[in-house]
Amino acid sequence: MSWWDIGEGSGYRSYNGDLPVDLVTCGFCGEEGRFGFKSRLTKKNAAESKTLHYDVLVCEQCGNLTSVFWGMGSSGLVRFHQVPWPRKTTGWPKHWPDDVGRYWVQAKRSIEVSNYDAAALMARSAVQLVLRYQNASGKNLFQEIEDLGARGLLPPVMIEWAHEVRELGNDNAHPIPGASGTTSADAQAVVEYLRMLLKVIYDLPHQIEEHRGRKA
Ligand SMILES: [Zn+2]
Repeated sequence: MSWWDIGEGSGYRSYNGDLPVDLVTCGFCGEEGRFGFKSRLTKKNAAESKTLHYDVLVCEQCGNLTSVFWGMGSSGLVRFHQVPWPRKTTGWPKHWPDDVGRYWVQAKRSIEVSNYDAAALMARSAVQLVLRYQNASGKNLFQEIEDLGARGLLPPVMIEWAHEVRELGNDNAHPIPGASGTTSADAQAVVEYLRMLLKVIYDLPHQIEEHRGRKA
């Protein structure tokens, strides 16, 4: 395994052929996906079939720098390594409800220590809580998510994505004897969905509010 193999076999989907900045977390302030580029260097292999990227990102929230080394595999998946990396998740933005924030921290920390059943359970509960705060109606999570879509609170891509997240369809909150454990992929998928839901429902309106306030 060479560094030139980065992104071959596994990684994140990139929608524009570039680094999925959304997935980078500032190691200083914990902000996710709000970066500008300070510098971008690349190096191609001899056959010019693969490019390694050396980006320096600047956090829009705290101004600190993060180095991201990344590459895209032949199937289009991106894998990256960053320095500095986020330490333990301990907090959440003030504009989230406290109970949602608590569930979020527990879901994240469960992922950090590979407790995937716990992570999926907490993430699913947090999604449920966000939907309740929005007075979503429906008999299950999918219907409630679709309700938010119908009311213009979630974009169509979030509704589509929900159906790809297996743990959101796992409506049985009660343990079943002999059930197999949650895989790391399924746990991460539901935590990533939760993070984007929080972004759309709480972070975006908050950021827009900040921008409008600044102009006024
Ligand atoms: Zn930061």
